[in-house]
Amino acid sequence: MEQTVIIGAGVMGLSIARQLKSKHRHIRIIDRSTPRMNASYAAGGMLGAQNEFFEDTPLYRLAMQSRAMMPETAKDLERETGIDIEYQKYGLIKVASNSHDITALHKQFQFLQSHDHTIKLLSLSEMAQRFPKLDPNQSAAFKIQDDGQINANIYTQALIKSVAHRESIELLTHTETTSISQKDNGGYHIHTSKGTFHADELIIAAGAWSGALLHHLNIHLPTHPVKGDVKLIASDYHGLQETIFNVNGCYIVPKKPNRFLIGATSEIDNWSTQNNRDNLNWLDRESIAMIPALKQGRIIKEWTGIRPITPDGEPIMGEVRPNLYVTTGHYRNGILLSPIVGKLMAQLVDGNHQAREILQPFQPHQHTI
Ligand SMILES: Cc1cc2nc3c(=O)[nH]c(=O)nc-3n(C[C@H](O)[C@H](O)[C@H](O)COP(=O)(O)OP(=O)(O)OC[C@H]3O[C@@H](n4cnc5c(N)ncnc54)[C@H](O)[C@@H]3O)c2cc1C
Repeated sequence: MEQTVIIGAGVMGLSIARQLKSKHRHIRIIDRSTPRMNASYAAGGMLGAQNEFFEDTPLYRLAMQSRAMMPETAKDLERETGIDIEYQKYGLIKVASNSHDITALHKQFQFLQSHDHTIKLLSLSEMAQRFPKLDPNQSAAFKIQDDGQINANIYTQALIKSVAHRESIELLTHTETTSISQKDNGGYHIHTSKGTFHADELIIAAGAWSGALLHHLNIHLPTHPVKGDVKLIASDYHGLQETIFNVNGCYIVPKKPNRFLIGATSEIDNWSTQNNRDNLNWLDRESIAMIPALKQGRIIKEWTGIRPITPDGEPIMGEVRPNLYVTTGHYRNGILLSPIVGKLMAQLVDGNHQAREILQPFQPHQHTI
C-alpha cells in the first residue's frame, strides 16, 4: 500500500485528496488546525476568473476552467456531505472610484470584452443609480455576468467532511508538522506533534507556510503571507445581488441571509492574526462610499486570513523532487482555482502526462532561487 501524505487541509490539500486514485493508496492529511493560520476559511468566496485577470495567460485559462467546474463541485459536495456551499451566479461589478483607476479599469475591460461580449460598461445613468455617492467624473464600472461566488468557509467545511468520510483517507487535525527529512532509500519522514510518519509520496499544500516546510529539505521556494482583514455585516438592504469589487481592493459580497462580506486589505509579509482597526475603518469607508445603505449594517464578525503568495505572484504547482509535490501561491484566487488544481495535481501524482504538461508553466524549478 502506497503511503501518501498531504500537509495542509486547506482547499488545495483537500481538493487533491478527493481526486487522488485511492486504490492501493493510504492518504494521510496533516493539519495543525490553528484558527486564522490559514486562508481557506477566511476567504470572500468570489469566483473571479475574469475579475482577477488582465491578459490571456495559462493561469487565466485554468481559472476559467475552474470556475466552470464549481457548479458540479457544489452538487457533488452536497450529494456527499449534505452541505450546500451556497454557489450563486449573479455576476460581479468592477468599479473604479478615482481617475487613476479608471485607466486600469478600461484596459481590463478591453481585454475581457475581446473574449466575452456579455461584459458591459455601465452607462452614466446606471452608474448614478447604482453608485449615487461616487463622483460621475471620477468613476466607471463594468459588469461581468459569469463571475459567481460560494461561501468559502462552508466550502472548506464541506471538503473536510467529504474526505473524513472516505476509507482511504485519514485526516489528522491539530497535528503540527515540525520538520521533514528525506530517507536514504526513497520517501520522506514527516515529523509531527503526534509522531513521525513515512511517506512514499509527499504533497505540500500548506499555504503561506509551504516555503518554510520545504526549507527542511534544503529547497528554497519562498512563500510569503499577505494578511487580509475582513468583516461580515447584517443589513436589511435588498438592492444588491452582484458582488461589487473596487479596483482599490475593497469588495462587497452578498451572502445568505441578508449578510454582506466586506473585504479585504492586503499586507505583504504580515503574519498577524489580529484585526487592525485602521484597516477595518478603511473597509467601512470604501464600502459605504460604494453602497451607502450599508452604513446601517450591524457587525456580525471580523476576522483575518493569510493568503499565500510567491515572489513573482505566480502559483507553484508541480513536482519538486521525485515523489515530492508542492502547490501554493494562489494568493487571491485559491478558492476559485481549487477544483482544477485539485484535479490536475492529483492526476500529476497519479502519473498523468497531460496534467504534467498543463502544469508546466507553474513548475517549481522556475521559482527556485
Ligand atoms: C481575506 C481573504 C480573502 C480571500 N478571498 C478569496 C476569494 O474571494 N476568492 C478566491 O478564490 N480566493 C480568495 N482568497 C484566497 C484563498 O483563500 C487562498 O488562495 C486559498 O485558500 C489557499 O488555500 P491553501 O489550501 O493553499 O492554503 P490554506 O487555506 O492557508 O491552508 C494551508 C493549511 O496548511 C496548514 N499548515 C501550515 N503549516 C502547517 C504545519 N507546519 N503543520 C501542519 N499544518 C500546517 C494550515 O493549518 C492550513 O490549514 C482569499 C484569502 C483571504 C485571506
